[in-house]
Amino acid sequence: MNSHVPDDMLYEDLAERTVAYQDSAPSRLKSRIYSRLMLEEAAAGPLHSLSNCGRDGRRLCVFEDLVRIAPLGESAKQRNVCRVCHARVLAEKMENAPIYWPYCPYVRFQNR
Ligand SMILES: [Zn+2]
Repeated sequence: MNSHVPDDMLYEDLAERTVAYQDSAPSRLKSRIYSRLMLEEAAAGPLHSLSNCGRDGRRLCVFEDLVRIAPLGESAKQRNVCRVCHARVLAEKMENAPIYWPYCPYVRFQNR
């Protein structure tokens, strides 16, 4: 589990300052930024385990949820599942990508 408090604060501050532009920013840009941030976070160490996600009421992407309930080791549950999903590829390359399943970050980035 990463515990980079300074990075967390940096991202929170950045998100607060850009909230006014979130609806107007191109969804491809939002997707690419998210992908890059997730790559950086994964390079710094294992991500938070999906086993521990969702307990706060936040819903997981359908694919994250599948991995969460699958009989897999914790190392498999500490990866960015959405990285290998075709939603990422579509979202990074086209506006209004035809992806619709709920709770996936790449679907939420679409300007619909
Ligand atoms: Zn997803």
